[in-house]
Amino acid sequence: MTAEEIADHRKRRYNATAVYLRLLNPDLMVLRVKPDFPRPAHAPGQYCTLGLGYWERRTEACQAEVLGSSDETKVVRRAYSISCSVLNDAGELFRPEDTDWLEFYIVLVRENADGRVPALTPRLFALQQGDRLQLGERVTGHYTLDPVKPGDTVLFLGTGTGEAPHNYMTWELLRRGHTGKIVNACCVRYARDLGYLHTHEALMKRYPNYTYLPLTTREPGATRKVYIQDLIASGELEERLGSALDPAATHVFLCGNPKMIGVPVRDRDAGTTTYPQPVGVIEVLERRGFNADIAATKFKGNVHFEEYW
Ligand SMILES: Cc1cc2nc3c(=O)[nH]c(=O)nc-3n(C[C@H](O)[C@H](O)[C@H](O)COP(=O)(O)OP(=O)(O)OC[C@H]3O[C@@H](n4cnc5c(N)ncnc54)[C@H](O)[C@@H]3O)c2cc1C
Repeated sequence: MTAEEIADHRKRRYNATAVYLRLLNPDLMVLRVKPDFPRPAHAPGQYCTLGLGYWERRTEACQAEVLGSSDETKVVRRAYSISCSVLNDAGELFRPEDTDWLEFYIVLVRENADGRVPALTPRLFALQQGDRLQLGERVTGHYTLDPVKPGDTVLFLGTGTGEAPHNYMTWELLRRGHTGKIVNACCVRYARDLGYLHTHEALMKRYPNYTYLPLTTREPGATRKVYIQDLIASGELEERLGSALDPAATHVFLCGNPKMIGVPVRDRDAGTTTYPQPVGVIEVLERRGFNADIAATKFKGNVHFEEYW
């Protein structure tokens, strides 16, 4: 495409601006996007789409992409949970009414060995502050705090950028003055992938009912690998909570890698549940009296989940 054609596509197809872009490490960023239209109504935990044209530049050292001749004029869109830095620059609880953007927490997928070549994140990571992009006008999703009552224990268990919706839901609970315990655990490969660590440390100092549990699986020098499943099965989570897990007064939110979540296959006619291998958190919890949501029957349990792929 010529420079004029690209400028024309951008003008017609984009409806938002990247107003803030912070690389936490070369593969992880916080991006704030200001729509040209009024910020859509939404609940913490929900998601919308971001999009960029295939004509946009890809960041370096990513899997090569081969485009068909008709692809060049298309826009690639993906879903992103809305994130939240929880505290503002003055260290107070963030006030959405003071802002006109939505925050996203995004990891660069450099390559995908067993599926399509990553299309959007190599382009998002080539963005500069002030660049234009497409933002979905509708924020949607079932992954919200709706079922949570004020005194409930709330466990957020995420992998990588799966902590994005949990940060926004944490903000909402703190804002509401939630009286139950809140535990936010995030499992990443390296400590440098804990993009909001300082915020969580500040929150723990301020809110006695809030605990952040960072877990790493590949950090050099770390004495052990801990996955979310291990945290529950070993009893460490209960130790941190100071009490046994009580399904009657606990809601668990699982977000990120589908292997961590482990959604079972349920055969309604046969009345059977088949859990995937390796063992995911849903199996660990259901064996301890919890029940995961079932989308097909609209059943709402006390384990809620959002798979990122
Ligand atoms: C409801 C929903 C909300 C999402 N929210 C976020 C979010 O807040 N932040 C975010 O970074 N991603 C999020 N994702 C994933 C996102 O939609 C894209 O799939 C991802 O950014 C990669 O886009 P891509 O086009 O570069 O590669 P794609 O072609 O979309 O994905 C290629 C492969 O990358 C891997 N992958 C995808 N997402 C991730 C991830 N987050 N971490 C590690 N590996 C991944 C998977 O193996 C996937 O098959 C969400 C997905 C869904 C369905």
